[in-house]
This record gives sequence, C-alpha cells and structure tokens, in this order.
Amino acid sequence: MEHPTTPPPTTTASAAPRIMTGTTLCSGMESGGEAGHGRPLYGPSDSKVSPRFSGIRTYARLPHLTGRLAGVDAAIVGIPFDTGGTYRVGARFGPEHIRSASALMRPYHSGSGVAIFDRLSVVDYGDLPVVPGYIEESHRRIAGGLLDVLRAGVIPIDLGGDHSIALPELRALAEVHGKVGLIQLDSHSDTSEAYFDQPHTHGTPIYHAVREGLIEPSRSIQVGLRGPIYSDRDYAIPREMGIEVITGVEAHEMGMAAVAERIAARVADIKVFFSFDIDFIDPAYAPATGTPEIGGFTTWEAQSLLRRLAGINYVGFDVVEVIPAYDVADNTSFVAANIVYEFLALLAQAR
Ligand code: MN
Ligand code: MN
Repeated sequence: MEHPTTPPPTTTASAAPRIMTGTTLCSGMESGGEAGHGRPLYGPSDSKVSPRFSGIRTYARLPHLTGRLAGVDAAIVGIPFDTGGTYRVGARFGPEHIRSASALMRPYHSGSGVAIFDRLSVVDYGDLPVVPGYIEESHRRIAGGLLDVLRAGVIPIDLGGDHSIALPELRALAEVHGKVGLIQLDSHSDTSEAYFDQPHTHGTPIYHAVREGLIEPSRSIQVGLRGPIYSDRDYAIPREMGIEVITGVEAHEMGMAAVAERIAARVADIKVFFSFDIDFIDPAYAPATGTPEIGGFTTWEAQSLLRRLAGINYVGFDVVEVIPAYDVADNTSFVAANIVYEFLALLAQAR
C-alpha cells in the first residue's frame, strides 16, 4: 500500500522557501571548532543557530561523549541513584531534569565576566551505571565510573542522585588525588554512623568518608546545617571528627562574604571536592528535595557565596538531592542547573 506523501510546508513569507544545509541540530561542536586553534575542543551548541529547546537533552547543550575523553577539561556526569534516600525518593530522575532545565544556560558568565566555553572544553558524559536497590554494588560501580573520568585528567561535575553517592565519589577522588578537602553546603551534616542499623544512606556518607581516610577533616567545612535534629550530637559529631561547621544560623548572621572567607581559609591549597546538597537552598526556591528544611538560603545568596570561591584547587563537584516529582515549574532543577553553571565558571576562571 502506498503511503500518502507529506505535503510541503506552507509559508507566508514572500521569498521562496529555502532549504538550509549544515544546520544539523545539537552537534555540540559549533562553538568548539578544530583543536589546535587555541579554542577548547568541546563546547555547547550555539542557541543562536539552533533553538535551545531543540535537540537531545544534555547539560547546557554540550556534546554527549563517552569513552574517549582526550581534549576534555570537565565532564558532566549523571548519577541517577536514590536507594540511599531515607524519606522522599526519586532523585534517580534528578540528572535528566537538571539537564533539561540547563537548556537556558548561555555561554557567558556575567557574574565573573568569563566566556566559559572559550576557556573550558566540557562534555556531558551521560550517566554512570547503578543498580536500583543495591547500594553497595551501586557505589562500587559509581566509583569505578568516576575513576575512568579522573584518570583521564578530567574534572567531574556530578548530577545526583541522593547524597549517599558522596561516598563513592570520594573513594574515587582519594584513589587518584589522595585525601581531599571537602566543601559541603547542606542543611545536614550527613555524619551519622548508621540509619536502621545500616551504614550506607544519604545521611551517612561523610562519616564513612572520614573513617575511610578519604577526606582531610582539618581542611574540610560544612555550611548551612539547620532544622530539627535528633540531638545536639548531630552537630557535635562532625566537629569531633575535625570538620569545621558553620550552621545555617551562623551563616545567616555572618553573611556570605564572611562565610566565603572562612571556607577559603579552611581549605587553603588542598585539592577540594565541592558537594552541594540542594537542600542548602530554602525550599521556597528548591522545594523538590529529599529532606527539606526551612530557614535556608536564597538562590542569590548561593550565587554570591559561590562567586567568592574562585582560586580554590577543585578536583570534583556535585549537586545532589533533586527529586523532580516534588517540583513546581522545574524550579529546583533550574536552581541545580545554575549551581552547575557556577561550578563551571569557577573552573573557567582558573584557566
Ligand atoms: Mn546531604
Ligand atoms: Mn541535606
């Protein structure tokens, strides 16, 4: 049977319709060009050439690249795992929603005056393999996947996933870099030894990271702790482990400039992993998260803090605990996409 042919598109323009070539959507190479011309190898599609709502979703319309990371400075890495959640779950869908919300990222960071992708070659590495329901096996595979990225000399920027992924992230980082410093923005310290008599949840990764010797506590700092807690031990434990803690109340009273000074002084010149739990942000701005706490920080406060943290020796980043099913108008994913963009700006400024 013969299929009906598609009628030609109608046009109201007075000029004759023109067929354009060379406009394949989302090649991801439009701003990159050839290597060896002083420009980074990989960059985003140009949204003045193809509209930003078109193409297959990657972070900021970057090329999706796996397995061959030569010529890459930083990689966006999805870690769609949420078996560590103790309350709300669904962070497994965080990476895809953050990617979708990131279509609005433009290439020039107005906060620092840096054309990010003129300085940095960035790709979207896709998602690491996980096994839903099997936390230790997933952690093993996550660490293995990140080792591939790190051994290629690439800085990973990970999209969670619940915060339990910080443990395999830090295992991989420590394997390659030795003990790292930790900057953790979070409502919670995540330093419980166990929940339900189990060692691995999103409330325990930092306890185990310290115990396993993955981070250097004297070069580590947590900011934003707040909300109802089990007891005053919740804040005493990280401090007894040697981590500096600035509670949410203290951070509000100090202001972001003073917080940034304390962070920079704390980590000094050690290699640093930056872990951003989206619940650092107030649920008014980022409601879609596993364990929301009021009294949090505005998106501007987060940007203001991050923009004061250039000049630190970063070796990895993450943004975690985005659970899109609880979102309103994609707000939380949009905040997370912008936090990642601030991370890229910090890296670009160091180039
Ligand atoms: Mn956390
Ligand atoms: Mn938290």
